[in-house]
Amino acid sequence: MKIKSFADFKINKKILHAVVDMGFEAPSPIQSMTIPLLLSGKDVIGQAQTGTGKTAAFGIPIVEKITSRELQALIITPTRELAIQIAEEIKNIGKYKRINVLPIYGGQPIERQIRGIKRGIQVIVGTPGRILDHLQRKTLNLNKINIVVLDEADEMLDMGFIEDIENILSYAPQTRQTILFSATMPPELLALAKKYMNNPEYISVIKEQITVPTIEQYYFESKEKNKVEDLCQVIDMAQPEKALIFCRTKKRVDSLVENLRIRGYIADGLHGGLTQRQREKVMQNFRKGNIELLVATDVAARGLDIDQLSHVINFDIPQDPESYVHRIGRTGRAGRSGVAYTFITPEEYKHLRAIEKVIKQRVNRKNIPTVMETLENKKSYLYKRLLKLLEQEDNNKQVLDLLNELSGHYSYQKIALAALRLCFGDDNQESSNNGLSSDSNKKSDMVRLFLNIGKVNKIGPGDIARSIAEGASIPENAIGSIDIFDRFSFVEVPANLSEKVFQLMQGINLKGKILNIEPAKNRK
Ligand code: AMP
Repeated sequence: MKIKSFADFKINKKILHAVVDMGFEAPSPIQSMTIPLLLSGKDVIGQAQTGTGKTAAFGIPIVEKITSRELQALIITPTRELAIQIAEEIKNIGKYKRINVLPIYGGQPIERQIRGIKRGIQVIVGTPGRILDHLQRKTLNLNKINIVVLDEADEMLDMGFIEDIENILSYAPQTRQTILFSATMPPELLALAKKYMNNPEYISVIKEQITVPTIEQYYFESKEKNKVEDLCQVIDMAQPEKALIFCRTKKRVDSLVENLRIRGYIADGLHGGLTQRQREKVMQNFRKGNIELLVATDVAARGLDIDQLSHVINFDIPQDPESYVHRIGRTGRAGRSGVAYTFITPEEYKHLRAIEKVIKQRVNRKNIPTVMETLENKKSYLYKRLLKLLEQEDNNKQVLDLLNELSGHYSYQKIALAALRLCFGDDNQESSNNGLSSDSNKKSDMVRLFLNIGKVNKIGPGDIARSIAEGASIPENAIGSIDIFDRFSFVEVPANLSEKVFQLMQGINLKGKILNIEPAKNRK
């Protein structure tokens, strides 16, 4: 049977429910292939990188197979970060089955882990050295283990952990199910598999090569926590007419749409959680150009008939090379030029390389544009559009009437300046120059800045004023109005000092949050 949805797996409703909560709409290719085999009790070797959905591929069967309060599954990972991430994902999958998961890794006090293990843990995710340490101290007992997963096995091999792993496996019952995931399959791993696995099935999402049409493709490296801000910088630089932005899950679609809207972009989302009517409305608005950014999951975008996309942006890297080709092939249709941008986190490089191998093309790196670059770009974009208009015959009656009326009260220069400010989305403020005016020495020239910190970070106007005054060495009374919202704030600073504020404050840690500062936008 071809697996199309999670409901096609024979798994507990509580897990299905949890997976829906996580925003997954359909199984990824590695999940469709691996989950049935693991449920049937087979040993599996999976060749897949981070980003393919491999954690849930073993996490779902692990949670499904848990039947008692004893420790039944052990996942061995090369790093502490990965251990925490996997534990988090399994906790989410097992939330309605109330599964207890514990990450254990070096660097954390062992006493705390021992107390944790005693609480009745069913799944342990750990790094080899620390697992072995517990086994040797007899604070961990693998007698009831049914499943052992070796995740990112090639990394563990590179880091010299193979001996530790062999040692750990000797503590687990022979009857266990063993699963090995790795991006590459060097001979040492195949030898390990032969020695410790029972007639394993081999699954790979590394596919035959596919070719993509000529679309300009670039990637940006961005840490998860900076992705939204970095995306905004890219959008401001690229000025897309119509962009389709892909996210991995429904939840991420909703949260990105909200984040874009609070920053003034005209965005809407499309995912499997919408009714047919809602979908149609969003699509209609997008086609008409009432929405400039459409954020969607792969499933929702399937079968969408949209031409004339100027950009496809992979906010999340797709889970397999075919989806990549599918997604980016939506731009550059009918002989038009197309641009595809992909955001990758530092952990996802291997996944990108696998995509490049399949599409037989290199995806080149671009750096996230700086605030000043995007402002400059906005200026030259506006300049080009104005030149085009200036060369056209003016016969728009409404515009001419408005000009005639205004010119009775103001000079043409004043009218032109006001109209240009409107173009910059700069009409909301008493006096502001968004860092663009050359005459920026007057005290009244204030720039409004967006800060990614708000009430939820327990910050008040005094904290913001003080940290800007101290951080950028400017007098506190030079700071203008400060508006604090739940997750972000606006603050006015003198235009001639705004660059200094950017340079000295960008990226600092304020109340535990890495600060991002941008000129406040007001795009329409
Ligand atoms: P992994 O390859 O396991 O590191 O997963 C990468 C990301 O994809 C994680 O954030 C997962 O939560 C997410 N993910 C896993 N499976 C799916 C799915 N079927 N649909 C959408 N997102 C998924």
